[in-house]
Amino acid sequence: MNIDLSGKHAVVTGSTGGIGFAIAKGLAGSGASVVINGRADAKVQQAVETLKKQVPEATVEGVAADLSNADGVATFTRRVPEADILVNNLGIFEPKAFEDIPDEDWLRFFETNVMSGIRMSRAYIPGMKKKDWGRIVFISSESGLNIPLEMIHYGMTKTAQIAVARGLAESLAGTGVTVNAVLPGPTRSEGVVEFFAKLAKEQGVSQEQMEKDFIAQHRPTSIIRRLATVDEVANMVVYACSKEASATTGAALRVEGGLLRSIG
Ligand code: NAD
Repeated sequence: MNIDLSGKHAVVTGSTGGIGFAIAKGLAGSGASVVINGRADAKVQQAVETLKKQVPEATVEGVAADLSNADGVATFTRRVPEADILVNNLGIFEPKAFEDIPDEDWLRFFETNVMSGIRMSRAYIPGMKKKDWGRIVFISSESGLNIPLEMIHYGMTKTAQIAVARGLAESLAGTGVTVNAVLPGPTRSEGVVEFFAKLAKEQGVSQEQMEKDFIAQHRPTSIIRRLATVDEVANMVVYACSKEASATTGAALRVEGGLLRSIG
């Protein structure tokens, strides 16, 4: 199977680094024109240049906007009024004990991780319906099913994304627009590397050891027994966005190294 997305216009939120950048690279490599997004102009431009170097034939544009609020989404969608493929990737995480999470954090996590994808989907669905073709992917997490006790607020947002993706898919029944959630497990993105580097320093061990210990202690059911790479996650997303994935919708697609023990 050769995935060919030429002629398709893709938007990937939070794509200056990590999983988002790998998705943008994967979609561009399959021929889609891609819009990269982040909050800071300089970082967005840098990511655009990097992607152009890595995929020389790519058509890439960058739009800086903070998509965690309605104004940011309005700014973005004014600049990019149409999309065939929308990947709601941006997301924040922060370990904190339940008793220490104030209302503001619950609301900030919900706005950033959930409302961003809802507002972006609402903006692009009418155009997709008109063309009777579209792909929406929410980057959720295995943490949406396996709620992490060290960040219940994050888990809540990832469960919400799965619910929204499922409901939205059903609401688009009979159209050529599919909606899916992708559930990565621990993945070596910039954000996660930074997180492990800090923990490794605090505990006086190497980063490699820290990652191994994390999997052994916190994700002992991992079948791959390592972090995934960002490209492994991106491959699943590119497939879900392909023309070939036309019968895959309303699904929670796992790329979590088998750590969720349920079969269904
Ligand atoms: P990351 O921190 O490496 O990158 C996140 C990106 O989002 C960055 O480009 C950042 O600039 C951008 N961003 C953050 N807030 C934004 C905002 N308000 N507006 C615009 N851009 C914003 O993250 P990552 O690890 O690559 O994670 C990407 C997604 O994958 C997230 O939704 C995360 O929850 C999910 N996920 C990650 C892992 C993992 O282990 N890395 C596991 C499961 C799910």
